[in-house]
Order: sequence, then C-alpha cells, then structure tokens
Amino acid sequence: MSERSAVVIVGAGMAGVQTAMALRELGWRDDITLLGDEPHPPYDRPPLSKAVLLDAAAPTGAGGAKGAGVDVRFDVDFDALGVDLRLGLRAQALHAADRTLVTEAGPIPYDHLVLATGAYPVALPGTAGLPAVHLLRTLDDAAALRPVLDSRQQVVVVGAGWIGAEFATAARQAGCEVTVVEAADRPLSGVLPEVVTTPMRGWYAEAGVELRTGTPVSAVEPGAVVLADGSRLAAGAVVVGVGARPATGWLAGSGVELGEDGAVVADDRLRTTAPGVYAVGDCASFPSARYGERMLIHHWDNALQGPRTAAANLLGGDERYDPVPYFWSEQFGRFVQYAGHHTDADTLVLRGDPDGAAWSVCWLRADGVLAAVLVVDRPRDLAQARKLIARSAALDPALAADPAVPLTAAAARA
Ligand code: FAD
Repeated sequence: MSERSAVVIVGAGMAGVQTAMALRELGWRDDITLLGDEPHPPYDRPPLSKAVLLDAAAPTGAGGAKGAGVDVRFDVDFDALGVDLRLGLRAQALHAADRTLVTEAGPIPYDHLVLATGAYPVALPGTAGLPAVHLLRTLDDAAALRPVLDSRQQVVVVGAGWIGAEFATAARQAGCEVTVVEAADRPLSGVLPEVVTTPMRGWYAEAGVELRTGTPVSAVEPGAVVLADGSRLAAGAVVVGVGARPATGWLAGSGVELGEDGAVVADDRLRTTAPGVYAVGDCASFPSARYGERMLIHHWDNALQGPRTAAANLLGGDERYDPVPYFWSEQFGRFVQYAGHHTDADTLVLRGDPDGAAWSVCWLRADGVLAAVLVVDRPRDLAQARKLIARSAALDPALAADPAVPLTAAAARA
C-alpha cells in the first residue's frame, strides 16, 4: 500500500480555498492542510468595501440592529471536504530543499505546496499604529471602520483608486463628510486614460465627495491630514487605499524566486522555481502569452481561475494559465467592469457618451483585435467582449463605436 501524500496550502483566502476545492473536485484523495493566519473562517473580500460597509450605513432597525447583517464567509464545509483547516496559524519560512514549511506551531512537511498568501495593503509612511488611520483588507479592518461610518465622522481617504472610491461611496451613504486626496493628477491614472477618468471625477462631485488631485499627503497628525501644498484637512478618520503588495516576505531565501514587485515568480503552469511548489492569486505573477508580458493581477477572478489550473497541474496535468483578466467595482451607484488588458499603443473606441448613464470603452490592437473593454452599467457589452477577447476577435471600429450595435455584430462584420 502506498503512503499518503500531503498537499499544504498556505493562505486561506479565495485562492487557497478554491485550490482545496479544485483538488477534491479533480480527484485528490490524500491529505490537504489549509493554513490561514487570520482567526476567522475563510471569507470573501469584495463585500468588505461594499455590502459590509453599506450595511453599516443602513438605518438602525427597530430592534437596534444594523441592517440584515452581511455574511461574507465562504459557503464551504471543510470537514465534509476532508480539509484540515488550521486558522490563526502563520507560515514563517519555507525550506523548499527538504519540503518543509516552518510555522509558529512547528514544522509541517509537504509533498506539494500551494502558495496563496494574497497581498497586504501598502501603508502611508509614518502612520503605523495611529488609531485613526485605517487600511481596508480584512474583516477586522472593515469592522474597525463601521464605527467611523456609524458616528458619521469626517473622513479623509488617501488614494482615488478602486478601494478609495468604494469606501468613499459607502461613507457618503452613511452621511460622512468625505474628502479623497490623490497624489496623481487624476483618479486611476496608472491604469486608465483620461477619457475614462474625467467622467469618473464627476462621479465624486455628484456624490458630494471632494476630490483633491495632484496633492500628495505630507503628514498625518492627530485629527488632520497635512498635504504637500501646506493645506490641512480635518479628519476624524483616515482611510488609506494606495495599493497592495504580495504577502511574500516570509519566502525570502526559501528557494522560491520572488520578482522585484514582491510577487512569487510562477511559470505559465503556475509552478514556482521550487520543486512541488505552486502559486496562485494575488501573491503570484505569471507570463501571459496572450498579452506578451508577465502579469500580477490583484482581482477576485484571478483567485478563482488560477487554482483550477494549479490543481490540475499538481495532479499531473499540463494546463497553461492564460486567462482574460476580469474585475468589477461598484462605486457611486455604478457597476464598472473591465475585461482583458490594454496598453497605450492600443486604439481606444468610445461606445456611448461618458457623461451619460451607461457607456463602454473598447481597446483595439493595430490588427483590430479586441484587447480590452471597460463598461459602466453595460453588462451585456462586458459579457460579449469577454468571449470576443478570449477568441482574439477583431472588431469593425465604426460599428464598435455605435452603442446600438452589439459587440458581437461589430466582430462579425470586421
Ligand atoms: P487574499 O484574499 O489576500 O487571501 C490570502 C490569505 O492568506 C489572507 O487571509 C492572509 O492573511 C493569509 N496569509 C498571508 N500570509 C500568510 C502566511 N504567511 N501564513 C498564513 N496565512 C497567510 N476584486 C475584484 O475583482 N472586484 C472587487 O470588487 C474587489 N473588491 C475588493 C475589495 C476589498 C476590500 C479587497 C481587499 C479586495 C477586493 N478585490 C476585488 C480583490 C480580491 O478580493 C482579491 O484579488 C482576492 O481576495 C485575492 O485572493 P487571494 O486568496 O489571492 O488573497
């Protein structure tokens, strides 16, 4: 009789949980240990900046309870799945040469290891430990922000990115006075062109949020945020949303290669440079043949898709990971979705009026192939574009620019 073999998964977020589920679905019968350093049962992060805060913003019910309560836990029975879920346990180091994980509770040997440690939010320098300064990554972070919304504090949000916009939405809904400060000259300047971000600026104004761009923060003091231009903004609470870094510091010197961006360097099968070690989700980058570059994706869909490929390969398969990236954001009453990946070299085609209620933007490569799409409250465009991008379909630019013409029809006539 052969000995049992062990898969250890580090990180009990979306990617870690999906890996455990995919392994069972694909027939892995031996041991699975899932290790997570947070004390809570595994949960989903996107609602933390949306429903969880908006629930806090809901009026107090007759019984004094806030809203209906939002349960963010994954609906997974780990016992039934035969997964040894070990919460509140941090992986401290990895000895890849002898396939051993070092934890606070002692060494854990493995045959196969999956790294799914996600990312941590970047803090503002000099603000560590300041009680009024908040990050928003975990359930505990969201819980700490609920009283801020409940007591309608004056809030300064640092960073006009996805998280900043979503938090500002909830805080305004709760009745807080909100100022968003952004060091760049416009929101999302690193990821989207001006034609897209200019209307977004209007969303802030319409929601009654003051947006101050081109003004880096120089200091956070008790009760105030000081900007580089000398202005002081009163702040009962400061919420920092300036990006995230892969949670991989503990892997230094382990034999697993890390990139300059801190991500685990995975190959197109999601294998790392250490034997038997895979990496999935926010902590790992992979080479995309579709886009001709290495990608580090910090979005939910990547933490859903990657684990299926990693699990299949761990079980002896030979699957390449090359997804069409996808994410969504809910901000200022709008549903924003993006699929694909564009560069400045691509041609931008506007579908509809960006000052209107619903519109889209397509990016076409020089050969007319659809590279990416961003949609605002046009989910049908998104659904069609995702399939067109997956099959590298070319679009007729004139038809693509007409919002009355379905994107599939613009492809058929290209
Ligand atoms: P994580 O969810 O970060 O899970 C990793 C887990 O590993 C964490 O629990 C961490 O504590 C644990 N861990 C780290 N180091 C160790 C260690 N050494 N030992 C043990 N455990 C460890 N994406 C979208 O597409 N749309 C959205 O609207 C959206 N909204 C979001 C809102 C918020 C507030 C946040 C924070 C993220 C949002 N995202 C959204 C991104 C999405 O949630 C992430 O891409 C996804 O959670 C990544 O999953 P992951 O499992 O790779 O990492």
